[in-house]
Amino acid sequence: MKALVKKYNQAGLHLEDVPLRTCGLNDVKIKITHTSICGTDLHIYNWDDWAKRTLKTPLIIGHEFCGVIDEIGSQVKQFKEGDRVSGEGHITCNNCRNCQAGKKHLCPSTIGIGVNCDGAFAEYLIMPESNIWPVDDNISSEVASFFDPLGNAVHAALSHEIIGEDVLITGAGPIGLMSIKICQTMGARNIVITDTNEYRLKLAKKLGVSAAINVKNQKIKDYYKNLKIVNGFDVGLEMSGNPNALNDMLISMYHGGRISLLGLLPENTPINWDLVIFKGLILKGIYGRKIYETWYKMTQMLKNGLDVSKIITHKISVNNFEEGFKIMNSKKCGKVVMKW
Ligand code: NAD
Ligand code: ZN
Repeated sequence: MKALVKKYNQAGLHLEDVPLRTCGLNDVKIKITHTSICGTDLHIYNWDDWAKRTLKTPLIIGHEFCGVIDEIGSQVKQFKEGDRVSGEGHITCNNCRNCQAGKKHLCPSTIGIGVNCDGAFAEYLIMPESNIWPVDDNISSEVASFFDPLGNAVHAALSHEIIGEDVLITGAGPIGLMSIKICQTMGARNIVITDTNEYRLKLAKKLGVSAAINVKNQKIKDYYKNLKIVNGFDVGLEMSGNPNALNDMLISMYHGGRISLLGLLPENTPINWDLVIFKGLILKGIYGRKIYETWYKMTQMLKNGLDVSKIITHKISVNNFEEGFKIMNSKKCGKVVMKW
């Protein structure tokens, strides 16, 4: 089969033929139709320090996918050939205390497809049945191809009560943009997003935010009066991984505010702890999706009208993958979807 492979310990990827392993008794073989490029894939493509530390080459990369079931193992019960599916890319141990308590998102032994083992950027993906998630008929395969990051955003937003609240999202990358639509669906009062990237702030405006603020030359506080925000934000979703954004957020929170930290911050990022302590802020780290409660809620929200299709800015063929990664590197994009 054809696959996008990280072949050598250097920048770039290769689209080439690789052998396909056999489908196990409890496995499902998926013919991939659509994949989306994640920031993680870009780290791997660019071969940055994180990628050098983490990956063992050669490796098929990718974890955001949608496809159609092509074959099932003899013990598979819930799925059949022809079903349109996506899947959870975190394969958990299923034996530790958290896994056994149904808190698989807190498994310390998680293996990520496309990072720790072969991934989804290939003609076929073989996965345990327990990791497969069905795609509802009303949901497009393009959108289903990024259930993974959409799930990140749903997990981050649903960690707090949102109805009637003023929400600050720092970072208008794809996940921040998806969070706008989710918080709208959840009945937020004001949704304010920050970034330094004009392309993405423009996209955020199209999605209907209360304000899209370029923190390079604007202050969040200057928007309070117009938005009738008195003391600051009730909920914060940190989705940039940038230390300045986190500090902006801490300053902008109302006392008792709750924050989801999704963006991957540099080690030892300094913050003013006074803001956390004297404001009584609650900070929650978000990793991946709740398996499978986030998937359930995400599906119901999509069936009930959550529309994230405008976040797709580019659709390309996998044969043009170089162009896809170039667009991702330019940051002038929302979601880049590749058709197989
Ligand atoms: P992205 O890198 O595309 O988007 C981040 C955005 O933050 C960019 O648009 C960037 O311009 C913006 N930004 C930079 N400095 C800023 C500042 N000072 N203020 C406001 N915005 C600023 O990333 P993404 O794919 O949308 O993902 C968001 C973050 O979540 C990334 O850090 C990613 O690594 C992380 N992530 C975490 C998990 C998890 O499970 N915790 C999963 C996926 C992604
Ligand atoms: Zn476990």
